[in-house]
Amino acid sequence: MYIRGARVLVCGGGGFIGGHVVNRVLEAGAAFCRSVDVKPFEEWHQINPLAENLVLDLQLREACQEAVQGIDVVIQLAADMGGMGFIENNKALCMLSVLISTHMLIAARDAGVKRFFYSSSACVYNGEKQKSYHVVPLKETDAYPADPEDGYGWEKLFSERMCRHFQEDFGLETRIVRFHNVYGPYGTWTGGREKAPAAICRKVIEAKLSGKHEIEIWGDGRQTRSFMYIDDCTKGVIDILESEIREPINLGSRELVTVNDLVGIVESLAGIKLKRIYNLNAPTGVNGRNSDNTLLLKRLGWEPSITLREGMARTFAWIEGQMIAEAATRQLVVP
Ligand code: NAD
Repeated sequence: MYIRGARVLVCGGGGFIGGHVVNRVLEAGAAFCRSVDVKPFEEWHQINPLAENLVLDLQLREACQEAVQGIDVVIQLAADMGGMGFIENNKALCMLSVLISTHMLIAARDAGVKRFFYSSSACVYNGEKQKSYHVVPLKETDAYPADPEDGYGWEKLFSERMCRHFQEDFGLETRIVRFHNVYGPYGTWTGGREKAPAAICRKVIEAKLSGKHEIEIWGDGRQTRSFMYIDDCTKGVIDILESEIREPINLGSRELVTVNDLVGIVESLAGIKLKRIYNLNAPTGVNGRNSDNTLLLKRLGWEPSITLREGMARTFAWIEGQMIAEAATRQLVVP
């Protein structure tokens, strides 16, 4: 099943990855793209006028039935989620996303959808394997025995499993991708759902604009992670969707950095040095995590390759533009 000529539904199209995926799907020659999100249009990260854009709550079965009408391919990205600050404090909300996956799978099966893409997460991996800063990259089999991130990770692992059984029992072709930290322009950078790359950009820019040259870092800064730039992510979504890979597969960068390294990159982009204040009580997640891309390389012959410095430079420039524009608007409305 190819995107070119297909009628595609993007669930969560008002979100960060969803907005970019809608653009990519249309560029790839989809005959039609419907983008659905629960948020009002003014909160969508991007709206592509060439798509059919709908506001629907996909936790409801009837909404899923409406969304899937006339559709060949479903790209299911909708979820109630955010960075560590959000998922550690909203476990029930994260788990309720299971309603979206469940109702979308049923609706897709009943409507004769040809292919169903599900966005899982590196948060499904067993916590025992992520205790050390010096990580062994996670391979797909490391999700079992199951000990995922509480709340959010359990929901992802359960929904992955449901995709597998819809494939085996009902013949719905499912593709399951485990994203590792995705970042880039049009991502959330404020409000409590932002992730580390955007949060650090915002804090560094705030320090630069205010002249108060210090930064709060969550944890001791030694946590290790990899971060994938959005363009690598959207390429992966299309390639994996079009492939015959039926088992869950990693999609992430292998470029491992500490949070301290990430702060250093952003400081150099801003041209400043900040005093680092470590908040050891803040949510930090696991100590170390990286993506093993052996399967991806074997099956697709490529892996995410946009360097962190290059991707962060584009992200930093975008967030700085947003913050400067916001500050200018605030000045305009002050009498
Ligand atoms: P996002 O929060 O920007 O996008 C998710 C979208 O889903 C939001 O716009 C939200 O309004 C929408 N949504 C939530 N509930 C809905 C409902 N009931 N009906 C319709 N829409 C609903 O997040 P994102 O970063 O774009 O992530 C997209 C997907 O990728 C999510 O499933 C997420 O769990 C997964 N993922 C993302 C990352 C990452 O680093 N961004 C990492 C791993 C997995």
